[in-house]
Amino acid sequence: MTRASDAGTPAPADVAEAGWQAALHGFIPVPAAHARPELDAAAARSLLRCSPRAWALLTAGGLTAHPTPDGERFDGRDLFNLAVYSGSRASVPELALSLAMRFARQDPRDWARERRWDLHTTLTCPRHRGAGEWRAWSPHSHDTPEPGGEPQRWRDPEPTQTLEHQVRTRGVHARLRCSRLAAETADELARPLRYVRMPAAVRADARWMADLGLVDCVSGTLALARRLGAAGFEVRGRSGWLVGPQVSAHTWLDVRDDDGRWKSVDVAHHHLARALFGPGAIAPEAFAGSRPDRLVPTSAPVGEELFAHRCLAAPSDVTWQISAASR
Ligand SMILES: [Zn+2]
Repeated sequence: MTRASDAGTPAPADVAEAGWQAALHGFIPVPAAHARPELDAAAARSLLRCSPRAWALLTAGGLTAHPTPDGERFDGRDLFNLAVYSGSRASVPELALSLAMRFARQDPRDWARERRWDLHTTLTCPRHRGAGEWRAWSPHSHDTPEPGGEPQRWRDPEPTQTLEHQVRTRGVHARLRCSRLAAETADELARPLRYVRMPAAVRADARWMADLGLVDCVSGTLALARRLGAAGFEVRGRSGWLVGPQVSAHTWLDVRDDDGRWKSVDVAHHHLARALFGPGAIAPEAFAGSRPDRLVPTSAPVGEELFAHRCLAAPSDVTWQISAASR
């Protein structure tokens, strides 16, 4: 028996094409005013590792090609945001994330050991001019006495700065015990949101993100903090890094449970891990109660950049890179 496909919609030829087509549902391109069109079509396609037919589906279906003097260019964040939801398991973003998020598939009981890390941070001002002012929030170990504190500030004329830190991480395996807290959290995590990477100025518009069904670690943490705070729970947003083969900035929420303990809820990793590995591969308490052994907090307020810089170049951007060696 044959099944009729929707009139006018070419049926995807194979599973991979169907996956890319599905990734277009709910896909929102980076708004043109904030786009960084850097990749030509060949580079973009080799990043996605998709067939010519799948590529044609994507460009006809919402992936934005930006006209530039050098020809059409694509924004890497658009490619990332499609790849994560493609289920292709072959694209470069999926492979990199699967490695970085490998811990999500572990038994959270294995997160309770202590790990030691050497963090080597390089800060660069790409168009540096004049004297420089630098600001950096320092990483905390898991047993650093409770925060407060100020970022480190210093002056240095060189365009590149390096910082060295040694930190110890220890995860927690726990469940949310208070039934009202568990219910509020589960309800918030069940919202059908799509994890995305967006430029900082776009992410900061919480209303825009929410209206389009998008979430990232900052917007997800702030929304949950508002909800649990309004329900009477004590919350504290945490900003820091996910360390491992790659180090990326990350934000999550701690909430005080009725056993007096701080429990962690990680909205972004909840959505991202389910998109990458499927819901069945993730322990229910992994991102609702437990905390992985790879999270390094700072005292920075949620949404604040962890590194900042000022000099005569305007605007003076700072790029950062952290390498983490496990000891
Ligand atoms: Zn500078």
